Amino acid sequence: MIVPVAVVGHVDHGKSTLIGRILYDSNLIPEDRVLELQTFVSESRRLFEFAYFLDALREEIEQERTIDTVRVLFQSQRTYRIADVPGHREFVGNMLTGASDARIAILVLSCPDGIQDQTLQHLYLCQMLGVSHLVVALNKMDLAAFDEAAFEASSTTAKETLARFGFLDATIVPVAATTGENIARPGLAMPWYSGPTLLQALDSIPTDPPGAPLRFGIQDNYRISGGLVAVGRVESGELRQHQRLFFPLSSTTVEVEEILVFGSSKSCAEEGDCIGIPVAEPLVRGEVGGPADAQPSVRTSGKAQLFVLDQTLSVGDSFDLGGPFGQWQATVETIEFPVDATNGRPLPAPSTSLSPHQAGLVGFRCQPACLEPFSSVRSLGRVVISKRGAMVGFGIIQPDAL
Ligand code: GDP
Repeated sequence: MIVPVAVVGHVDHGKSTLIGRILYDSNLIPEDRVLELQTFVSESRRLFEFAYFLDALREEIEQERTIDTVRVLFQSQRTYRIADVPGHREFVGNMLTGASDARIAILVLSCPDGIQDQTLQHLYLCQMLGVSHLVVALNKMDLAAFDEAAFEASSTTAKETLARFGFLDATIVPVAATTGENIARPGLAMPWYSGPTLLQALDSIPTDPPGAPLRFGIQDNYRISGGLVAVGRVESGELRQHQRLFFPLSSTTVEVEEILVFGSSKSCAEEGDCIGIPVAEPLVRGEVGGPADAQPSVRTSGKAQLFVLDQTLSVGDSFDLGGPFGQWQATVETIEFPVDATNGRPLPAPSTSLSPHQAGLVGFRCQPACLEPFSSVRSLGRVVISKRGAMVGFGIIQPDAL
């Protein structure tokens, strides 16, 4: 199992350096590449930067085109996939498309610089996008003379801030990305620290609770070898041959006679699998099926925690609400709990509009849509909102009780 991890934090606090260091310490960079970089650094009289490893790996990935550029893998007790996050747009883009559906994040926080605006913004986005566990890499401890008192002071402030965003159990590890202290190996420079290394702290985060109910979303219908096949993706759960699927949008029940994958068939499909199922009649594109006793929901209203990018969203506005399988017309009905998303601080309520970089709980009406609360089925709970084709914001569907 591959565990996705988002690396977040204020610019210059050491994200790329930390990732480069993790890759280097995991022996993921080929030896000749290491030598090449060391030669380059000494010839150009530059200061050696571990971030070069990340750049080197990126180039390799781009040349080989074997894996997506955002997918950087490393191994500890488990295999992790790092989503490097150059900016919040990329971060949320990755999180929303599922390219990095991270439930775990490493917050890189420079000990001498402390919490900055972007730290708060990333914490807010982590909370909003469903990151459930944080490990804090309290970085640049070398610049704080590896001092215990400096670590304690920064940890106390960090804990107070983390608590505001609901991260109560975060482990804070004093590290120096440039020297590798307490990242993959214990740091000799900080004998007073007896806690886990950063990788040990990651490994100790429990795996996810039991999965969400089965959801199969329809992308299209094709004629294959004279038969009709509905093609789509298993968004959550497990689909077994001979199982019955109920599609509430069109009130159709289908018995899955076969699970087709590239010309062959298999008896079971899991989350993330793109498969086809034989059908007598085409299924509606964009609809979602599940077991009759745990049906997918079809909603005509709801509440979404939305983050607005660079336009204004007001009560009464019409917009397109996009989920992974479809887009539906919607109207803003209410706006509650407005927040300045650049620092997570509440704004005066009630509010009738959200300006760029503000967020809030938006009540809406819509055409019948296959969307579910993010807390029950993550991939069916993410939405992108747009007006006349331009993306206005994004967010997650909240449970109906809110
Ligand atoms: P990012 O913007 O968060 O990705 O930060 P970078 O990884 O690019 O680091 C910004 C600067 O901080 C670079 O010059 C790094 O060499 C430096 N840096 C990162 N980690 C450490 C550290 O542990 N100690 C010291 N002294 N400098 C560091």
